[in-house]
Amino acid sequence: MAKTEQIPIAETWLGAKERRLLAECANSGWVSSKGRFVGAFEEAFASYCGVKYGIATSSGTTALHLALACLGIGPGDEVIVPTLSFIATANVVTYCGAKPVFVDSRADTWNLDPVAVENAVTRKTRAIIVVHLFGHPAHMDEIQSIADKHSLHVIEDACEAHGSEYRGARVGSLGTMGCFSFYGNKIITTGEGGMVVTDDVSLADRVRLLKDHGMSRTRKYWHAHIGFNYRMTNLQAALGVAQMERIEQVIDRKRRNARIYNSLLRDIPGITLPQETPWARHVYWLYTILIEGRFKSARGSIAEALSSRGIETRPFFYPISNMPPYRNGRNGRFAVAERVSRKGLSLPSSPLLKEKDIHNICTVIRELADGRRTKKRVSSTAKT
Ligand SMILES: *Cc1c(COP(=O)(O)O)cnc(C)c1O
Repeated sequence: MAKTEQIPIAETWLGAKERRLLAECANSGWVSSKGRFVGAFEEAFASYCGVKYGIATSSGTTALHLALACLGIGPGDEVIVPTLSFIATANVVTYCGAKPVFVDSRADTWNLDPVAVENAVTRKTRAIIVVHLFGHPAHMDEIQSIADKHSLHVIEDACEAHGSEYRGARVGSLGTMGCFSFYGNKIITTGEGGMVVTDDVSLADRVRLLKDHGMSRTRKYWHAHIGFNYRMTNLQAALGVAQMERIEQVIDRKRRNARIYNSLLRDIPGITLPQETPWARHVYWLYTILIEGRFKSARGSIAEALSSRGIETRPFFYPISNMPPYRNGRNGRFAVAERVSRKGLSLPSSPLLKEKDIHNICTVIRELADGRRTKKRVSSTAKT
């Protein structure tokens, strides 16, 4: 079918305020990385996370790269990362000339397994990047105590988890630094964009320095460090300022989507629902289920059936350690990541999704489940 997807996996939610602030940039000429919105967005987002400093960047990837760079991580160093994440989590370690050491995830939250982290620590380990996958916080206390024991930094890759909470504290405020993405399909968007947040003033200063060519803030064109141009524009920040007014509404709607999905899919055999542990506020960036058991190897057919009805889905990420640039250096087998990656399917998760759409999506899935059951019964009757 050549028609475009009618129910997309994600949608940007922009309104009058976004348009007004963008127009203000265009009308005033403040379209580059100077202008009033960059600082305003940094302040609003840092305070939302419950931290002192926010440094806006050009993307989530550059935020993560800056976090590692300002810790001086480089050749000869190792950084522990979950293999079950988006590729950028590992690439930023490679950009620094350091080695990403892959670790498996837990079966319940699909997040970094603290036991596997402990086993992966060596004399060369400098940091752990935790990922709050799909918006569920990682197992922070366990990981922080490993980090404390071995004097490691914990960097949060919170690119999918704006507003997610661990024991009542917002993600981004839990590690040495937190990194966020404002790409078009994230919880809030600036088109492209990112942010590093931290309570540490010297790290914040260093991130600011490195994101702007390492240029002295007191002496124009004096560069004591090799920096980058990872600046966010005022245009992007204008979107961010407007988006901050609806961030809780976006999360409420994503949580509502999850509640409806959970209630409609709960009793279908072979479907595993995403978990929300008692200590977590999950923000369900993407509502993701596992399709297994009775539905074994049927993920593709569910995706196809939904697609033919104009409903977009996404398979889970592949384990990063299986990707061509990384598979030669892979350090072990990752049973949970392999299984979850094969069976995971993300369903439409837009804050603009209608309740009726979720009912339709779940009806298609239920029909497939029933269809398979019927077929099985028929064939076994025929045999006997
Ligand atoms: C989106 C994402 C990133 C990268 O963010 P960009 O803004 O696209 O560079 C990094 N890590 C995770 C887990 C992500 O989901």
